[in-house]
Amino acid sequence: MSIVDRPASELRKSLASGELTSVELTQACLDRIVAHDQSIGAFLRVDGERALEQAKSVDKRRAAGEKLGPLAGIPVAVKDVLCDSQAITTCASRMLAEFRPPYDSTVVARLKQADAVLLGRTNMDEFAMGGSTENSAFQPTRNPWDTTRTPGGSSGGSAAAVAARFAPLAIGTDTGGSIRQPAGLCGIVGMKPTYGRVSRYGLVAFASSLDQVGPFATTTEDAALLLEAVAGHDPRDSTSINRPTPAYTESINKPLAGLKLGIVPEHFGAGLDPEVSTAVKSAIEVYKSLGAEVKEVALPHGKYGVAAYYVIAPSEASSNLARYDGVHYGFRADQSSALADLAAERQAFVAAGNAAAADNVDSPLVRMYRSTREAGFGPEVKRRIMLGAYALSAGYYDAYYLKALKVRRLIRRDFDEAFKQVDLIVGPVTAGPAFKLGEMVDDPLAMYLVDLYTVSANLAGIPAISLPCGMTKAGLPIGLQLQGPPLEEDRLLRGARMFEAATDWHTKQPTLAGAK
Ligand code: GLN
Repeated sequence: MSIVDRPASELRKSLASGELTSVELTQACLDRIVAHDQSIGAFLRVDGERALEQAKSVDKRRAAGEKLGPLAGIPVAVKDVLCDSQAITTCASRMLAEFRPPYDSTVVARLKQADAVLLGRTNMDEFAMGGSTENSAFQPTRNPWDTTRTPGGSSGGSAAAVAARFAPLAIGTDTGGSIRQPAGLCGIVGMKPTYGRVSRYGLVAFASSLDQVGPFATTTEDAALLLEAVAGHDPRDSTSINRPTPAYTESINKPLAGLKLGIVPEHFGAGLDPEVSTAVKSAIEVYKSLGAEVKEVALPHGKYGVAAYYVIAPSEASSNLARYDGVHYGFRADQSSALADLAAERQAFVAAGNAAAADNVDSPLVRMYRSTREAGFGPEVKRRIMLGAYALSAGYYDAYYLKALKVRRLIRRDFDEAFKQVDLIVGPVTAGPAFKLGEMVDDPLAMYLVDLYTVSANLAGIPAISLPCGMTKAGLPIGLQLQGPPLEEDRLLRGARMFEAATDWHTKQPTLAGAK
């Protein structure tokens, strides 16, 4: 087994004992990236020099007997949506292709404080809008298990990086499933914490009431380690929850006694791939064999989740993305012909005898906004802005946005009721395994429906985790989702660990061509 195949919790021990240095580990990750990322495309940018410098400094401080942070010397990959004052932060958009944040997001600051080694920035759907990482303005990411397929999205780069063992840990964000879905499709662990558990300060906003940062890892213990390092109250995010972060890594191996698991019959209806259904059902049998009691619970409004999400998320996006106007941030379209265009347009109206229209042509400022947004955003981002602007506009607000908010409240109420009866809810992450690249790019509705099982947790603000629970005959990973009550990340992690300890799905890894 090579160094890069080992989980972070083990690497920590080897680093602490002096059996391994962070420079060796970081170099091993960088070598693997050089050897294989060309065929995966997980990273947008790798900063090897900076990573090795950080690694060297950790090794030196360790040798000097200094007290180090919990991720000391461990390489972490970061989704290109979290501001880092030392890195360009693009959100995989032309709009921010050159954007250098003036400050660190709280998550990046905490990774630095934890003495992690920041390897590079991972690919994503533009502004995190999508479920396949194909909406990146720069490159698609391929699934390490089958490079003709997507890794899922929007955090597909982070998920693929961990699945391909380019980094033992990675950070992603989940607005409607963007951590859990790619984790499921790439055969790794991914967790969306409770809304407010991890600070959103310095996270480039997509849908502020839904966005949440969380960990990717190959084991539940590693996910606990990374979550513990980045979670916690932050006065700079007004939605951050002011509660201490439990020591997840200390309790992870304590099984949940008398575990009551809920299953939702509709999650197993038509549309669920039979292989996924079988794998999830056998996972439930594993829980039963571990002493869990399984009972049906109802989430009657879950079926409206996707519809409500695709009103609320675009509405918030249309407002959040208004700031990209060519003035405040990043890209501005070339304006060199703006005055000439304006004069020509005016002249055309005058020649047609329409002097009033000639006086009303768009000003150079409006032209600048329009051409910047036209060239800076990709098609899916534009679609979301239009959907959101429509849902929020006078006359439609009550029918769409307000109605969606009411549905959201009912979805949360369903979960509150369900969690009076059970400790966790178990089910699939997605209806099928990883789909082909290009398969759904022309069918946005089909792509939206992929989020069927994941969006409800975001709408309700509850934590949820995805972990590997099987493989299809064609060799594609299958994910299991556990959802828990607000702030019960500890319960989720321990519940997930129980399954992991009883099975070996988490040990499976893709064989990259020629990997060593
Ligand atoms: N696939 C969903 C969307 O496109 C979720 C994205 C996310 O969680 N960032 O909005």
